[in-house]
Amino acid sequence: MEGAAGSHWHARTGDEVLAALDSRSHGLSAPEASRRLALHGPNALPPQPERHPLVRFLAQFHSTLIYVLLAAAVLAAILGHVLDASVIAAVVAVNAVVGFLQEGKAERALAAIRSLVSPRAHVLRDGERLSVPVADLIPGDVVLLEAGDRVPADLRLLRARGLLVDEALLTGESVAAQKHDAPAAHDAPLGDRHSMAFSGTLVAAGQASGVVVATGERTELGRIGRLLSSVEDNGTPLLRQVDRFGRFFALFVLAASVVLLLYAVALRGWPLVDALLAVVAIAVSVIPEGLPAVITITLAIGVQRMASHNAVIRRLPAVETLGATSVICTDKTGTLTRNEMAARRVLAPTRTLLAEGEGYGPRGALRSAHGEDDAAALAEALPLLRCALLCNDARLQQRGAQWAVVGDPMEGALLALGARAGLDAEHARAEWPRVDAIPFDAAHRFMATLHRGPGGETVVFVKGAPERILAMAQVPPAQLARWERGLHDAASAGERLLGFGAKELPAGRARLEFADLEQGVSCLGLVAFQDPPREEALQAIAECRDAGIEVKMITGDHAATATAIARQLHLADAPLALTGAQLDALPATRLAERVREAQVFARTSPEHKLRIVRALQAQGAIVAMTGDGVNDAPSLKQADVGVAMGIKGTEAAKEAAQMVLLDDNFASIVHAVREGRTVYDNVRKVIAFTLPTNGGEVLGLIVCILGGLTLPMTAAQVLWINLVTEITLGLSLAFEPAEPGVMARPPRPAQAPLVSGFMLWRIVLVSVLFAAATLALLQGMLASGESLEAARTLVVNALVAMEIGYLFSVRFLAGRSLTWRGAMGTPAVLWAIGVLAVVQLALTYVPVMNRLFGTAPLSAGQMAVAVATGAVLMLVLEAEKALLRRVRPSLIQSA
Ligand code: ATP
Repeated sequence: MEGAAGSHWHARTGDEVLAALDSRSHGLSAPEASRRLALHGPNALPPQPERHPLVRFLAQFHSTLIYVLLAAAVLAAILGHVLDASVIAAVVAVNAVVGFLQEGKAERALAAIRSLVSPRAHVLRDGERLSVPVADLIPGDVVLLEAGDRVPADLRLLRARGLLVDEALLTGESVAAQKHDAPAAHDAPLGDRHSMAFSGTLVAAGQASGVVVATGERTELGRIGRLLSSVEDNGTPLLRQVDRFGRFFALFVLAASVVLLLYAVALRGWPLVDALLAVVAIAVSVIPEGLPAVITITLAIGVQRMASHNAVIRRLPAVETLGATSVICTDKTGTLTRNEMAARRVLAPTRTLLAEGEGYGPRGALRSAHGEDDAAALAEALPLLRCALLCNDARLQQRGAQWAVVGDPMEGALLALGARAGLDAEHARAEWPRVDAIPFDAAHRFMATLHRGPGGETVVFVKGAPERILAMAQVPPAQLARWERGLHDAASAGERLLGFGAKELPAGRARLEFADLEQGVSCLGLVAFQDPPREEALQAIAECRDAGIEVKMITGDHAATATAIARQLHLADAPLALTGAQLDALPATRLAERVREAQVFARTSPEHKLRIVRALQAQGAIVAMTGDGVNDAPSLKQADVGVAMGIKGTEAAKEAAQMVLLDDNFASIVHAVREGRTVYDNVRKVIAFTLPTNGGEVLGLIVCILGGLTLPMTAAQVLWINLVTEITLGLSLAFEPAEPGVMARPPRPAQAPLVSGFMLWRIVLVSVLFAAATLALLQGMLASGESLEAARTLVVNALVAMEIGYLFSVRFLAGRSLTWRGAMGTPAVLWAIGVLAVVQLALTYVPVMNRLFGTAPLSAGQMAVAVATGAVLMLVLEAEKALLRRVRPSLIQSA
């Protein structure tokens, strides 16, 4: 197949293009589609070349911390301590391998999660509207476009209504281009080919159908070799903070080492070589080299857990921000409610009818509400029911015993309503062929269709928000009063209302304009729908209340309906509602305050959403906001966490969002917040766990240098401890489940420091305890005549045991005491301890290890002392927690 430009598709008529591609306006047949797919291959651009594994491996060394370690290794080698140098180098290499493997795993997991939201396109095949993966499109396919879609391939437009396409990606032009179906000039440049919609560009408004002329690499996008970046950078504020901290730390270590070196040599008279080796030991002991990798893994595990609960993270920073969310602004229909619409009541001009029946099936009946003659009532409702079937894009499909809607559930409910009244939608559609349409749009809140009637008449049918329909009609006061009463009653029961109207236009009219609907429409009546709240949403809202998170409903629906649903969901005892019009009328000075107070925003447009987010953010709130339409993109971007709907959301909304909900369910947002809080806790646990290890080691070394004592560990031993504990114990913290009560505390303030007062105190205290125990054990061993090797081996084992003891304490940040269940640990913790025990035994008893690390076998009694040290430390820390809770509860709460 030639490229789009080669065949000048833009300059040919739609029919010519269809003929050239051997297609028809109602699309290809299914077998032909599969034949062409085999011939042309998938509609996809070649994947971005991955970074070579070697490059990725080498990147592991690119860190200030690792540079310091490598410098230490070189120094040790120069000093003739080849063994130490090789151990340092080996540890750095192992660290890099672990980082490389884990990073690869995390990347693969994230890629798998991202593919959960792969784009789909609407096509006509055999005249039926289908949703297919974009990759399955082939030349000749007829694609349907609407606002918010990403154009899935190069299309020659067959029909276009009000189509505006943002082509900045291809042409750099920021103003959306108008498109229509007439041929363009033969020599028109790309930006002027108004009869084409190019792959990768975004439909800003309107509707269209077009035939695919080029797919994959043969599209204009493929030719310029540009890729749509669906993935954002993987850095997060937290990772950057840790990185900055690491760099600052490394510089500090270097400076402190030089001072210590001078002190040891000049004032203590140490030989230069010994002093340098001591400094090397300090440098390696103080560096938390494994920390960045463990934090990355913790974030990745959080993303995986969120995905398993239907929340797909598109941008990694959202994982952290979710945990700080203080306000969730959510749509109503389908998110808080089930979006299983049932038309319950029909208000005809003088009579009311009740619908009986379940689901979307045709079984059921329409009866008069007040015991009048059913047939007369039905006859009165007939024009409304016909309008409901014709001004309708949905279809019902039988799947087993169930009926399902293809399209808008509310329109599906109208088809079911018609069927229960004995009307057949297909028959009505054949009798009243559609000539033109104005599609539904949240901005104008109605939909209208133009039809040719069986008697040759031309009629426009319209359905929409009742106040919109009433505004198009001249209704006598008595009639208006009836409808307003019906509206009020239904809305206060939480029912959703739709108004219906019709107007005859001059015969032969083929195009429908907005002006046709400004007046003279006759109002046919109202239909009330039930859309029950989701059970899970009720629970999730209660959870938010405990978690100090405000929930605000932002909906296009009527204020009374929205308020009633809000009450059913216990959003507030007496929910306060603001309409879009009221928002517009508010002076800027009162906006923030009123927005803060209200729980329900009704009859809003996407622009209102943007104002609401900004008003909330101005007051320091961290806002999560849901959206689905193309016009929601600005507010999704503005929100701290933009949340797009996976099912009913447009591509534009998904691309603007940081998170996509696969099930459109409010409860999934709350679940993600819970995971977000857990991830943040776990990162802090990893930090709280890692730093005292380094702190304790370095403190012990410095005391020895200052006091002229024998060093408690060699550089190689220090590195051994750091490495084995970080990749076992440190990593196990990444798998920590949520703390009990994680959703029973207020959101963390946006500016809260990563390391709280309690954590800082803990880091200092544990460092001191580690150092004191280390020195005491070393001196004790030496005093009892043991060799230096044996003494150091005991110190290394005791330190690892103390870290295990400390791990149990750190698993509960908020100063809670260890419970029996807590002491049992998680599978990850138990695995970590098991692995650690094995490698420690190897370090102590395997001769090669003894030679490499300068260790010596210990007696059983000495091993017992090491283990007991760990147990004692755990008890001391538990006692400290209990004591602090009594004397300084405020410090613990700050945890
Ligand atoms: P939410 O914003 O919570 O999803 P919503 O679905 O009610 O709520 P919109 O889709 O903006 O919000 O709809 C606003 C109003 O427009 C509805 O209350 C209804 O009166 C009317 N409406 C919705 N869908 C259609 C449709 N397909 N045809 C005609 N009118 C519609």
